Order: sequence, then structure tokens, then C-alpha cells
Amino acid sequence: MLTNDQLSKWDRDSFMHPSTHLAQHARGESPNRIVQTASGCHITDRDGNRFLDAFAGLYCVNIGYGRQEVAEAIAEQARELAYYHAYVGHGTEASITLAQMVMDRAPDHMSKVYFGLGGSDANETNIKLVWYYNNIRGLPQKKKIISRWRGYHGSGLMSGSLTGLSLFHQKFDLPLDAVLHTTSPYYFRRDDLSLSEAEFSAKCAADLEELIAREGAGTIAAFIAEPLLGTGGIVPPPAGYWEAIQPVLQKHDILLIADEVVTGFGRMGSMFGSPHYGITPDIMTIAKGLTSAYAPLSGSIISNKVWKVLEDGTDEFGPLGHGWTYSAHPIGAAAGVANLKLLDSLNLVENARDTGAYFNQAMRTALAEHAQVGEVRGDGMLCAVELVEDRDTRTFFDPAKKITPQIVAEMARRGVIARAMPQGDIIGYAPPLCLSREEADTVVSVTAEAIKEVLERR
Ligand code: PLP
Repeated sequence: MLTNDQLSKWDRDSFMHPSTHLAQHARGESPNRIVQTASGCHITDRDGNRFLDAFAGLYCVNIGYGRQEVAEAIAEQARELAYYHAYVGHGTEASITLAQMVMDRAPDHMSKVYFGLGGSDANETNIKLVWYYNNIRGLPQKKKIISRWRGYHGSGLMSGSLTGLSLFHQKFDLPLDAVLHTTSPYYFRRDDLSLSEAEFSAKCAADLEELIAREGAGTIAAFIAEPLLGTGGIVPPPAGYWEAIQPVLQKHDILLIADEVVTGFGRMGSMFGSPHYGITPDIMTIAKGLTSAYAPLSGSIISNKVWKVLEDGTDEFGPLGHGWTYSAHPIGAAAGVANLKLLDSLNLVENARDTGAYFNQAMRTALAEHAQVGEVRGDGMLCAVELVEDRDTRTFFDPAKKITPQIVAEMARRGVIARAMPQGDIIGYAPPLCLSREEADTVVSVTAEAIKEVLERR
């Protein structure tokens, strides 16, 4: 084991962490967990503490930790060809093979995949392509993008604007003007409690229509959404939502970008979330599960309809002026190829469906009647427990009480990692897709114990 006692100090002195309370971290008031090894669904820190990681890192280690096949593929790629770029038609065996493997798994109406590095940059790419698309079509006014409150699409300038969570906007001068937000498809937090799910979905579609009418359809290029709200609270769409939304977009010639960064590559118990929910996207964003985070890689999958216009555009205006040095990086691509092979050979998509259903049911059985559990929800290998101060009046806890961070900390003390979702008292779960039923039982029982511990000592 590493015995460098300086690490903890260096971490506070030198390392600026993402999504962290900078002052508390620097002062040593919050934990700095230094993770050292991992295998299957477990991580171990340098003090020897072992945790069942029920959030798979940041819902990304779909195949589980420590897969030697992926490590070998990365090492072999690094030895043979660590890097070559993909500009001006260059490729590598790994990047071309991965493109083919992704397209073999994508819905039939999709045409090509462009590779980036992470989900945020993939969404930046998507918006640029949408703008290019409408300029080529002679529609230079049609540029605004509609996203949803509580959507998460990254934290770049544009992707952070698309995100609909205040933490990612405040003091950053975001969102940018080109981005509009519409109603969040979050049935549990609806304002009008008398609405059925179907009525609420119809309201979401009506609100979207109203926004389009107000702005003018001729100014709106695309609608971006996760098939299932992820970071905003792990909220499956209400009944009839996608059936109500898609015709509105089609009627107004608005492209649909399905952000599959979380839902792609098996997490829903199906390869992608779009077919799972009957969505027909024009562009799909992929990242996380594409390589199970063994190396950074993302992608934009482009439909035949959009591709044709892009192709025509380059015939008219020359090469596409877009790309990163590391687009389609061979090491990421080699990790992706090995990862997708394992996803198939270990039947992990099926396990996400079956064990995910077991996990969600077990969580509901253990907690649904609890006085402070407002809702247990999920789909595939995704689950959320939303806590409320009062179930009958649906009163939410004062965020200052930090109920969920306390519960999650209590769970970690008991050896299970879950995520306190950023907005609301919501405990989130997105374990590796190889989770076993026994591990699911552990996550459920530790959750129940931690909730009891924190809520009873209030
Ligand atoms: N889109 C979705 C749906 C995500 O959940 C995330 C990250 O969690 C992103 C985009 C951004 O991806 P990244 O953090 O790799 O930039």
C-alpha cells in the first residue's frame, strides 16, 4: 500500500477539485478520500477501507472495476500506437472499429459517430453541428436550443447553459442567451397535485408548445433531453411524456438531441435509452458507458437526416471546421472496443435489466412505507430515494439541514457509496451493471439503516 503521508497535504495544497467546496476542502473540513484500487463493484482507499460503489464512480464504470481485458487493450494500444489524430480522414484500427461497433448498436436511422472526450464536449459539438445544419439549410435565424429544468448536459459554456440546475449557473453568467429551459418532467415535484401522470405529460407538451409560440418556431433549432432525467434527480419520464413531446418537435422542424451519456450502453437494461422509451432522436450524445470510463471518450451519433445536410455543407463550403487534438484518441477507442466486447460477453445489459429490477423492487419494499420517504423510483440499473419532511403534505426538507449529505456520509461509514444528488434531498444509485443480488441487498439494507440513523437523531 502507498505510504506517502504527504498525499493528503498535497491534495489540499495543490489540487483544485471539480464540483467541490473549495474553501472547506483546502481547510481540511471535508474528507479527501484517496482511492487506490478497485475490483468489480468495490473501491478501496489508501487507508484500506473498502466500499461498495453504488454510483459506479459518476455513473460511468458500467462493466465494473478491474477488468484486465480493458487494461490489456489500453496497454497494447499505448505500446503499438499511443496517438495519432483523426483530422483530414486519418484513423486507427481502434477508432474505426469502435465507430463500426457503436453504429452496429445504434438505432437503424443513425448514420455516423463523431468521437470527442467527455459528455460536455460532445454536447458542445452537437450544438455547433445543429447551428451548421441550419445555416446550410438557409435558416440562419433558427438557432435557439430548448433544454429542460433539471436536465444535466455538462458544465462547459454551452453544455453548462443547457444544464437546468442552478448550481451550475450561479455566478458563472450562465445560461447563455441562446438557451431556453422548459418544464421539467418531474411528476413527483409537479405544482398541481391533482394531475394524473398522463395529464402532467400533456401539460409538459403544452408548456413546450407555448414556449415555441412565444419565441417563434423559426428561431428554435433543437430540443435536448436525457431519455430519463439523471443528475436532476434520477426521474423516469412520466407516462406518455415522450409520445406527447415528439410530435411538437416534428411539427416545428426542431431537432431532437437525446443525451444518452448516462443511459447509453446498458444502464437502462437496453443498449440505449432512446428505443427503451420510444424516442427517435436526430443526434445522440454518448460518453461514460462507451468506455466504462477506463479512458476518456465521448461521441455524437448523427442521424441520416442530419448527416446528409452536413455532407452537402462540406461540398459547398469545404471541410468541417471542428475537431479536437484528442478526437477519437486511439487509447480511448481501444478501451471502448474492449469494453463493448465485455458488455456483450458478460451479458451485462441483461443483468442491468434483471438485477436492476430486483434492486428497485427491494428498495421499494424496504422503504416505500417510511414516513420520510416521498418516493422510490428508478428504471434499469438506476434508482433514487427522495426524502420529504412530511409525506402527506409533501413538504420538502430545508436544504440547509443537509439531510441527504448526512445520510450518504452515514452510508459511507457503513461501506456503501451512494450520491447525494445536487438539487433536493435525493439519494441516487447507479451501480456497475455487474451488480449481484447480494450486493443489491447490501445497498438497500445500508440505506435503510443510514436513513434511520440520521432521521432519528435529528
Ligand atoms: N450529459 C449527461 C446526461 C451527463 O450525465 C453528463 C455527466 O454526468 C454529461 C452530459 C457531461 O459529461 P462529462 O462530465 O463527461 O463532461
